[in-house]
Amino acid sequence: MPLIYTWVSQISSSLLQAPVDIQELDQFQEYGKTYFYIQLLYDPVVVVVGAGPVGLFTALLLAQKGIKVIVYETGSGIDQSPRAVVYFPAVLEEFSKAGILEAVIAAGEKRCEGVDWRDRDGKVIAGIDPPLEDPHYVVVLAQPEFCEVILDALVKTGNAEVHFNHRLQTLQQGDGFVEYHVESRESTLTGKCQYLVGADGGRSTVRRNLGIELEGYTWKDLLFVAVNFKYGLSELGWKAGNFIVDPEDWGVIVKRGKGRSWRIATGIRRAGASTDRINALDEATISVIKKRLCHMLPGDTSQIEYEAFAPYVVHQRCASSYIQGHVILAGDAAHLNNPTGGLGLTTGLLDAAHLGRSLLQILNEGASPELLQSYAETRRRIFREITDPMSTANLLRLHSQKPEDIKKREEFFKNLRDRKDMATILMAGLPDFALTSTSETKFDTYHEVTWFISVTKPDGWPTEKFIHEYKSVHAGMTRQAKEGGSPLRAYIQISNSKQTMKGGVRPEWDYVTRLTFPNLFIVHSSFQDPGYRATAGAHIFCRLGQEGCLARQVAKFSRSEKTSNTSVLMFHNRNEANDEYSQEWFEKRADGMTSIADGDENVVEYVLWRDIAPKNSDYFFRDTQFSGGSWHNYKAVEGFDFVDEDAAAAFLDCHRDEITERSTLQITVVIGEPDHIIRSDVS
Ligand SMILES: Cc1cc2nc3c(=O)[nH]c(=O)nc-3n(C[C@H](O)[C@H](O)[C@H](O)COP(=O)(O)OP(=O)(O)OC[C@H]3O[C@@H](n4cnc5c(N)ncnc54)[C@H](O)[C@@H]3O)c2cc1C
Repeated sequence: MPLIYTWVSQISSSLLQAPVDIQELDQFQEYGKTYFYIQLLYDPVVVVVGAGPVGLFTALLLAQKGIKVIVYETGSGIDQSPRAVVYFPAVLEEFSKAGILEAVIAAGEKRCEGVDWRDRDGKVIAGIDPPLEDPHYVVVLAQPEFCEVILDALVKTGNAEVHFNHRLQTLQQGDGFVEYHVESRESTLTGKCQYLVGADGGRSTVRRNLGIELEGYTWKDLLFVAVNFKYGLSELGWKAGNFIVDPEDWGVIVKRGKGRSWRIATGIRRAGASTDRINALDEATISVIKKRLCHMLPGDTSQIEYEAFAPYVVHQRCASSYIQGHVILAGDAAHLNNPTGGLGLTTGLLDAAHLGRSLLQILNEGASPELLQSYAETRRRIFREITDPMSTANLLRLHSQKPEDIKKREEFFKNLRDRKDMATILMAGLPDFALTSTSETKFDTYHEVTWFISVTKPDGWPTEKFIHEYKSVHAGMTRQAKEGGSPLRAYIQISNSKQTMKGGVRPEWDYVTRLTFPNLFIVHSSFQDPGYRATAGAHIFCRLGQEGCLARQVAKFSRSEKTSNTSVLMFHNRNEANDEYSQEWFEKRADGMTSIADGDENVVEYVLWRDIAPKNSDYFFRDTQFSGGSWHNYKAVEGFDFVDEDAAAAFLDCHRDEITERSTLQITVVIGEPDHIIRSDVS
């Protein structure tokens, strides 16, 4: 076990309680104080700075999987000030994976009635009323109580220590480690760890130590105020989420947990534009806010019980980088946005989920540390492209008087009133897929994915036109996109000849497009790219009802010295929604087919893929032409490449029984010529 050597001014009780073996090696006295030189037979692999929600959740994900973590927190306990209150579906999915969803729901309250926009008199302007069958819900729970739930789970792992009253002062990076200096009331501690996570909030010491800038701006003319209060607002017919629209008396009124607990976040104009922090509000300001709230709310507002007022300055800012060496930023340390719509903590918790997953892949599964670079770039892009503009629009919608904002606001409300399906889109709340990137089934960022898409000649098109459009125009656009930086790794067009395999079914497709991307998340996020939408996304082939699947490679055999001119793709039909091959089947099939391929010199390549198409593919392909396609018809795909067509026919004839497992499998077979438009850029 690695050692930490450190000077401490006192061997503190927290050190003695820690699962460490402390040996005193030396001591000296200076200015009346005794300093001990100690050896700690304990080396945290990861140090997390900050016991806010993001730091605690990151620590939990690591500690649950056996990683030794120490969390240092300046405060004497969990910060009790009024802060975030809402946890959206994307975040709840991460809680579910971490096994804490039930505890979070038990501490808070599950809500699924949508939200309303109201005027300053409380009259509803427009609202989102999700359909009853909508499976999505949010949980409302005040941030300090949420932190207590995570802290409890973290301590129970037995792999983490949380040291309150410990402030990180400085850090230096060595070769593959971080040396940090932490000060507490009783000691100054120097330690080493493999990775250090800066989750120490907007004024992050870690970020400052790294010299990383926080780019963006401050809402200088507004002082935000968060107020916790108790009132029977649900009984008066208000939903858990309410946006009040008014040039002056705007605000967000949300349920903050069980019973009568509510929160208003609002803003007051600052006399002179300022970025100064204010620690407490004067009586006059408190009175303005109380008056504003009483005007907005129905019922006997003299019954409102005020609990806490917290003023704060709000920013739209993002760190110029989320990583430097072995030090990584997450949450408010990496980005800040106004709280309208609850995107700040949401984005931070999804950072934690992504970072936790990446660190586990590196520390427990031997993945390349490069994954952290990908974390840093992906999460930064998500903040800049989604969280920042969306939260800005949310706030401007409430109070801006600029003509362009008024126009956007009116369009937004008109859409809500006119198009009821928009309710579902918005209720899901946040674009889960755009904000998150870690779900193993939906947002995998780790595994390469191959997307098979059928291509069929549109009715009424002459064959020449179709072939020209697909083989020249579509292929040309994809090549151009690749040159322009598209993450696409490979693109093959496979014709569907008249050949077939006895015992298999030949589909009525003309081609199959085979695309390989670095991961599933990128496939999704590419759809958000305006460049893609303007070119490939608008192409006719993307608008036809296609079928196919998204699949992860599980086995590969290759004779790379040979070239192939015939490909065989075998799509294994799925009989019902939950029809899956077992892991054992994949292993047995991979062994069996690899050995057959190895025994036939004419087989150039064999690949076996497992279907990983997101279950809710409409959601995955949301707002794209692909949502109308069929992506769940196949549970596995196999690809054979042969030296020529005769070799393919002979092989299929000879091995039909093994391939169809004596006619027990239903397989859709495409036999044709592969045209490598973009060759694989991965070795
Ligand atoms: C008044 C207010 C209202 C808000 N309302 C909402 C809302 O409604 N919805 C929403 O999504 N977001 C809201 N936010 C933002 C949300 O609270 C933050 O996004 C969230 O707290 C970020 O979590 P974090 O863990 O990254 O940082 P923090 O919660 O700030 O936690 C950082 C922790 O690090 C500790 N720390 C700092 N420096 C050091 C150091 N050198 N050494 C050790 N520890 C250190 C701090 O004491 C703190 O406990 C609000 C924020 C404020 C201030």
